[in-house]
Amino acid sequence: MREKLIFELSHCGRKGYSLSGHNLPEIPMETIIPSKFLRKQSAELPEVSESEVVRHFIRLSTLNYHVDKNMYPLGSCTMKYNPKINDYTCDLPGFSALHPLQPAKTTQGALQLMYELAEMLREIAGMAAVTLQPAAGAHGELTGILLIKKYHESQGSKRRKLLVVDSAHGTNPASAALAGYQIISVAGNRDGRTDLDDLRLKLDGDVAALMLTNPNTIGLFEKEIQQIATMVHNNGSLLYMDGANMNALLGITRPGDMGFDVVHYNLHKTFATPHGGGGPGSGPVGVSEKLIPYLPVPVIEKQESSKGTTYSLQYNRPESIGRMMNFYGNFAVLVRAYTYIRMLGPEGLRRVSENAIINANYLLSLLLESYDLPYPKPVLHEFCLSGDRQKKAHGVRTLDIAKRLLDYGFHAPTIYFPLIVSEAIMIEPTETESKETLDIFAQALLSIAQEAENNPELLISAPLTTPVKRLDEAMASRQLNICCSL
Ligand SMILES: *Cc1c(COP(=O)(O)O)cnc(C)c1O
Repeated sequence: MREKLIFELSHCGRKGYSLSGHNLPEIPMETIIPSKFLRKQSAELPEVSESEVVRHFIRLSTLNYHVDKNMYPLGSCTMKYNPKINDYTCDLPGFSALHPLQPAKTTQGALQLMYELAEMLREIAGMAAVTLQPAAGAHGELTGILLIKKYHESQGSKRRKLLVVDSAHGTNPASAALAGYQIISVAGNRDGRTDLDDLRLKLDGDVAALMLTNPNTIGLFEKEIQQIATMVHNNGSLLYMDGANMNALLGITRPGDMGFDVVHYNLHKTFATPHGGGGPGSGPVGVSEKLIPYLPVPVIEKQESSKGTTYSLQYNRPESIGRMMNFYGNFAVLVRAYTYIRMLGPEGLRRVSENAIINANYLLSLLLESYDLPYPKPVLHEFCLSGDRQKKAHGVRTLDIAKRLLDYGFHAPTIYFPLIVSEAIMIEPTETESKETLDIFAQALLSIAQEAENNPELLISAPLTTPVKRLDEAMASRQLNICCSL
């Protein structure tokens, strides 16, 4: 049944509250807003009772899919469990009522929180310093690449190329191109890892940096990372880590120890802050010692004196790349991530990654009988299946499998990414899903594999039970092409 618009539910004179006997004195609008700014007629607003309006929005929210309803099969990259306490702390009036232009002596608590969060992230990734400014992962990449560019310029070198591996997230080449670099793709080998021969071939004196994701986007650890770091550094290039998803690394190993010069984090993935329609995000960037002078301004500094500790915003940094954002970053997101890290502590963070890896490998073991795994096990926090078997035998595509999952009450996983896996189905269950939930999810995918065999038509017409049926994907992509070619 279609949910009516709130205007259709409206009845003249109906009120959202009934506090008879407690009539509050009416304050004439003119005393608050000058009459020239007031509407001549009052705006037409829906008139509904409190329970009608609450029920309306609850019904709407349950038509939608969200992490409070069920799991996301590409967990931390789409939405992992965001503890409610994160919202509680960022709602505290001392944080939520701040204005970014307040003088620093009235915002010491906020500055302390940002300083400490940067310190914790620095420690987690083993870097020399961290900026919290960037507003998203891609924005962090751009910041990191601009830092690399400035570094080379300060060495009097004008390197024009950036190497990106072919399993990289699409934002990697996009950010590098935005910073003015020519993108050179480095191939993966049969194991799904970086092909060192191809890397050697492409590393020349014009290469500013190599961008790498470790574990990479198919969930595999780049075992030869130290050799890669040596090759890159011997070439005078820098090594960039896409740390959007650190769910496999927390407390176990650190990009800084592997030899990375720059890493960006996605607080809205690993560090449990909302995203995916619920943003805004945050993409802090960690750097090695030699990149510190170029960090965006302002930098938060801590001063110890006989009167105690104070924090200040430093703008006087002549070699800085400048500002990457208004003010200091998405503050409410920073408060949430700070809460998350402090609630877990070092032991808890390590358990997050251990459980994420165990959950991914457990789920994979349940699915192997029915789906192809193009690259060998073991995986870390995520894995990438292929729907090739279903496509070849029954004409059912990965898209159809994903659509059918909606009928089983699950969000779809990420599909057709990374590009190196044909009919890719990418799954990341995350650390907080119980064995029972993983079993039910696996059962859904196994049943779908059965249906692909016995009743492929069903999958091709799925989803059948959702409020919105399948869109015309062919038409949508045709229109997208038209838009792109305009
Ligand atoms: C999500 C993601 C990004 C981009 O982050 P945004 O915040 O969406 O800009 C980059 N790299 C990887 C591996 C990601 O998962």
